[in-house]
Amino acid sequence: MSETIFTKILRKEIPADLVHEDEQCIAFRDINPQAPVHILIIPRKAFENIDAMQDEDEQLVGHLFSVARDIARTFHLDETGYRCVINNGSNAGQTVFHLHVHLLGGRAMNWPPG
Ligand code: AMP
Repeated sequence: MSETIFTKILRKEIPADLVHEDEQCIAFRDINPQAPVHILIIPRKAFENIDAMQDEDEQLVGHLFSVARDIARTFHLDETGYRCVINNGSNAGQTVFHLHVHLLGGRAMNWPPG
């Protein structure tokens, strides 16, 4: 896959508002927030999306959700609820082709999504 803007963030070539960093992933605030709290959790390992995920990535993808849970607690989103979203491909609205979990919270949301 070709490099994305998230590769540059991982290499710290462009700035990001980091909220979490560990051996497997980083998390930072979305530059165009869709909710009072909008954080992206991305693996250090680059692959496009769930469709490109391999069986060996199961632990890693699970870890992204564990981190989302912990960040949600840090921001007290667990008290009111929050949404975790992975957009997979163009019809889903994916624009950056490096897997990421959106963590959205701080307001009530509708279903189904647009
Ligand atoms: P998606 O549309 O699911 O691929 O989500 C990509 C997200 O990345 C969008 O919500 C963008 O606002 C966000 N984004 C793009 N560039 C940056 C950046 N430099 N820093 C933080 N978030 C970004």
